[in-house]
Amino acid sequence: MADSSPARPTVVVLGGGYAGIQVARPLDDVADVVLVEPKDDFVHNVAALRALVDPSWLERIYLPYTGLLGRGRVIRDRAVKADAGRVVLASGAELSPDYLVLATGSGYPFPAKSDVPSTEAAHGKVRNTHAALAAAGRVLLLGAGPVGIELAGEIKAVWPGKQVTLVDVASDVLGERYRPDLKAELRRQLTDLGAELLLGSPLRADPPTAAGELRPFVVTTQAGAEVTADIWFRCYGVAPASDYLAGGLAAARRPDGFVEVTPELLVAGQDRVFALGDVSAADQNKGAGAAGRQAPIVVSNIRALITGDGGLARYEPPPAGIIVPIGPDGGGGQRPDSADLVPAEVVAQLKGRDMMVQRFAELLGVSVTAESGASCGR
Ligand SMILES: Cc1cc2nc3c(=O)[nH]c(=O)nc-3n(C[C@H](O)[C@H](O)[C@H](O)COP(=O)(O)OP(=O)(O)OC[C@H]3O[C@@H](n4cnc5c(N)ncnc54)[C@H](O)[C@@H]3O)c2cc1C
Repeated sequence: MADSSPARPTVVVLGGGYAGIQVARPLDDVADVVLVEPKDDFVHNVAALRALVDPSWLERIYLPYTGLLGRGRVIRDRAVKADAGRVVLASGAELSPDYLVLATGSGYPFPAKSDVPSTEAAHGKVRNTHAALAAAGRVLLLGAGPVGIELAGEIKAVWPGKQVTLVDVASDVLGERYRPDLKAELRRQLTDLGAELLLGSPLRADPPTAAGELRPFVVTTQAGAEVTADIWFRCYGVAPASDYLAGGLAAARRPDGFVEVTPELLVAGQDRVFALGDVSAADQNKGAGAAGRQAPIVVSNIRALITGDGGLARYEPPPAGIIVPIGPDGGGGQRPDSADLVPAEVVAQLKGRDMMVQRFAELLGVSVTAESGASCGR
């Protein structure tokens, strides 16, 4: 029987990370949603560092897209050129969206983020790096921001006897945007675990080995401290993924690569193209949490434009907040609405113990168990 319902607009979502999945799924009932994502599976990278020290987590953090959309589809491909009405994919295919959502996020050096589209290859890379790390007695972490702190905590939780040294050009841990008492608390926990902090001075030169390679080396900070280590990891360097933007969309790409948006999360100068998550300049406080707060605004605004009902909602970035685990049971945090620091026990409940796996598995319509990993539940 012929379908007599009116044509549904096409919404193309570029990127199937935290931002993309939380826009794609709720629009599945009002639009033909096409999610473009080069990776085989959704990667819950919030738990990536736990999987490095304990690869049994891998099955739980690579989650299939098969249960995400009922009507829409997920295309395994990469946008190589996108303007408002036309997207060219690496395969050569072209899409002509009525609405376009830029959710391509950011890259970050391995192991914090995966840079391999194939799940099998990505798992292999994590397992190999885990073996190298397990065999290393001394670990150097370049960067004492949230990723360096979290990785130090994960390593110390599994291998308390390993030497862990964090080096940062900044004079304190975590970065400028956070409270001094939170930094002091994180420093205290790290030093209690025996991690060494060399702050306020960069290395004279990067280590001579590749990051993640097991081979002893010696480096020196500009202040003159010498560190001998067997392996190192780069724990800084967020790079927004926006180099595929063309035409009018390229005009909204700032020199630092982030995409300028209006409070309605429309790309600057556009009326049917939205950007959210790490790739957008909507909020200085990047995170899966911020992507999750922005997604309902984009969903509501696309719905309003499709149906003609209601005005456009606006996103208001909250003041800085963060939680930083140090192993499954430690860490600290700050909340915008509280004068008190978030204690380790609450950080453990919010993230450290289950690494928020269940929450994102549910969003993908997947059930996960610690024993068998992910299976599609829809
Ligand atoms: C180790 C670590 C721990 C973290 N812990 C937390 C935490 O506890 N809480 C928190 O809130 N945040 C945390 N974050 C930050 C969080 O991971 C990011 O803010 C989040 O990934 C942003 O989501 P996103 O969807 O915008 O981008 P991403 O997660 O980067 O997803 C973007 C997707 O787009 C795809 N893509 C890229 N280019 C293209 C293209 N050209 N075409 C199509 N698809 C493309 C990518 O493959 C990727 O799947 C952590 C980050 C790290 C590295």
